[in-house]
Amino acid sequence: MSDGRALAREFLEQQRLLGGDPVILTDGPTPGFTPGATPGLRPGSVTPPVTPVAASVPTGPLTPGASPGNTQSPRTSPGKSKASGAKESSDLPPSGLSYDPPGGDLFSADPLQQAASLEAVAALVSTCTKCRLCEARGRTVPGEGPGDARLVVVGEGPGRVEDETGRPFVGQAGELLTKILAAIDLPRERVFICNVVKCRPPENRVPQYDEIAACLPYLFRQIDLVKPRAILAMGGTAAQTLLNTKQSLGALRNQIHRFRGVPVIVTYHPAALLRNPNWKKPTWDDVRIARRLLD
Ligand code: SF4
Repeated sequence: MSDGRALAREFLEQQRLLGGDPVILTDGPTPGFTPGATPGLRPGSVTPPVTPVAASVPTGPLTPGASPGNTQSPRTSPGKSKASGAKESSDLPPSGLSYDPPGGDLFSADPLQQAASLEAVAALVSTCTKCRLCEARGRTVPGEGPGDARLVVVGEGPGRVEDETGRPFVGQAGELLTKILAAIDLPRERVFICNVVKCRPPENRVPQYDEIAACLPYLFRQIDLVKPRAILAMGGTAAQTLLNTKQSLGALRNQIHRFRGVPVIVTYHPAALLRNPNWKKPTWDDVRIARRLLD
């Protein structure tokens, strides 16, 4: 497939997600369009302008710690240019950061890269001593949910109850997450739920950079195996880690980001909602966007 067709396909997919209008060719010649130059496209069919895609959808990895500002697409909402009678999907937010971390080597001897199931990843996590968090943990918390889940929820790290049970998002915050998912008609059992780090940080402190770096390959492998239609990053640590950015949660909300091509929605962590009920409304807005990405 030529680069032009690949870019066109990417553009159309982005248009679909953002609810943008398709570009319909008129009968007359279209500026910049040479008949026959793009195999498979014909007058009257949906045709993307290729150039803007290359400018708005960065595909290369970000340098850790680098400012992602130049990777953001214009903050213009596609809904603003729509005529009256626009589809409901035009309410989706604009695209944001795109992050494509190094992929696994298929021929690697690394057991994690050879792990072919979520259970295999969990088995590796259960004996992991790659960072200091192994020292005080009760149980590892690799994550839970079906291997074909359409949505992956990513939090920060296990708390006390999670450390005792080996399950993610249990206790009060977990109950709230279950309610949030039920409100968008998504039973918890159909979602893969996990954290950035798989062992509890002492006193529930925020995981440190080297701990996150040591644990990230497990999360990346889990996402690779599940191949979800969308990822819901709950809390600043999950969002900044998945998107490789230092931007605040507030700045990252209300955009559709991408992680290895998978749409990522950023919202508040349920534990934060318990402390600040005023964030429930924006969280509801975020999860509804995530829900629409699944259909
Ligand atoms: S937090 Fe992750 S990297 Fe650290 S010991 Fe636990 S499983 Fe291993």
